[in-house]
Amino acid sequence: GGSARDSDARLEETAGLALAIGVEVRHRIAYRVRAPKPATLIGSGQVEALAAIVRDDGIGLAVFDASLTPVQQRNLETRLGCKVIDRTGLILEIFGERARTAEGRLQVELAHLDYQAGRLVRSWTHLERQRGGFGFLGGPGETQIEADRRLIRDRMARLRRELEQVSRTRGLHRDRRQRAPWPVIALVGYTNAGKSTLFNRLTGSDVMAENLLFATLDPTLRQIGLPGIDKAILSDTVGFVSELPTQLVAAFKATLEEVVSADLLVHVRDVAHPDSAAQRADVEGVLADIGVAESTPRIEAWNKLDLLIGDAREDLLVEAERRDDVVALSALSGEGVDALMQAVAARLTAEHRRYAI
Ligand code: GDP
Repeated sequence: GGSARDSDARLEETAGLALAIGVEVRHRIAYRVRAPKPATLIGSGQVEALAAIVRDDGIGLAVFDASLTPVQQRNLETRLGCKVIDRTGLILEIFGERARTAEGRLQVELAHLDYQAGRLVRSWTHLERQRGGFGFLGGPGETQIEADRRLIRDRMARLRRELEQVSRTRGLHRDRRQRAPWPVIALVGYTNAGKSTLFNRLTGSDVMAENLLFATLDPTLRQIGLPGIDKAILSDTVGFVSELPTQLVAAFKATLEEVVSADLLVHVRDVAHPDSAAQRADVEGVLADIGVAESTPRIEAWNKLDLLIGDAREDLLVEAERRDDVVALSALSGEGVDALMQAVAARLTAEHRRYAI
C-alpha cells in the first residue's frame, strides 16, 4: 500500500535487513497486490516470472516483505524452487543472530515459538476450510495440531520461567558489576540510517591486529582509537525497523540490552529521509522503554549529508554547528567523520575524566 515513495523506502529497509544477516541482495522487486491470492499471495503470472529469475540467477532465498500464511510459504517454496521467508521470519533471523545475553536468546526463542504457534492455528483453520469446514469428527489432523500446540505451550511456559530466573539473577549482578575499563560507545538508529557504513568507517583504518580479538569474540564489538583517549569499544546494534510485529517487541528489546549500559550513544540519523523526525522519536521512545537513562550522553550523527543540496544542506549545517551534541556528516564520503570522533572524544573526556590519557 502507500505511495511509490513509501514502498521504495520499505523495499530499501527490507534489503537492509537482509544484508544484516549476510544475504547478498540480487533483486528488489515490487508487486502491486490488489487481491492477495490465498495460495501464493502474488498472482500466478508473477510467480512464474519470479521462478524464472530464481532459476536463471541461482537464487537461494526469496524474502517476502509481507506476512505469509504457512500454506503460501510452502506453495511459494515449491513453485519458486528456493527457500522463502516473510518479514517476521527475516526479523527473527536477525534477532537470533544478534542476541548475545541469555535473556536475549530466551526472548528470541519465545518469539519464534509464538510465531510458530500462531501459524499452526492458521494453517489448521485453513485446512478445515478446504475440507468443507465442519463435519469431520475430530480426525487425525486435529489431534496432531493439538499435540503440537501443547508442546509449544509447554516449551513457552518453561522459557518464561527461565526468563524470570535470568532477569532476577541479572538484577543481582548489575548492582555489583565492575565497570569496563574502557568506555563503550553504542551506535543506535533506524535500519538504513547508515550505522554499518559508519561502523566500518570508524573501525576500518587503524588497529587491525587488536581488532581480531574482538572480531572473534563478537563481530559487532570493535576497538577504536579516539583523539586523546587510549581505547574505546564501539558496539554496533541491530537497526530499528518500522512496523515491528508485536510479538517481536520483547525480543527486540532484549537484543538491545548492551545499549543500556553504554557510556555514550551515537544516534545515527538519515537526515535525507522524509520521515527522519518521526524515526528519531521512535528511536528515542524505544531507548526510554528499554531503560536507557536520560542522563546517558548522546551524540546525533546527522548522516547522508551528501544527499542534501542548497538551502536544505545549509540550514542543516547551521543547526548542527549551533549544537554540540550534533555532527553533520556523510558516512559514505567520509565528510564530517573526523568531527564526529572529536565530538565523541570530547564528550567522553568531559563525562569520564579517567578515560583520558
Ligand atoms: P544501517 O542499516 O543503519 O546499518 O545502514 P547501512 O550502513 O547499511 O546503510 C544503508 C544504506 O545507506 C546503504 O545503501 C549505504 O550505502 C547508504 N548510506 C550510508 N551512509 C550514507 C551516506 O552518508 N550517504 C549516502 N548517500 N548513503 C549512505
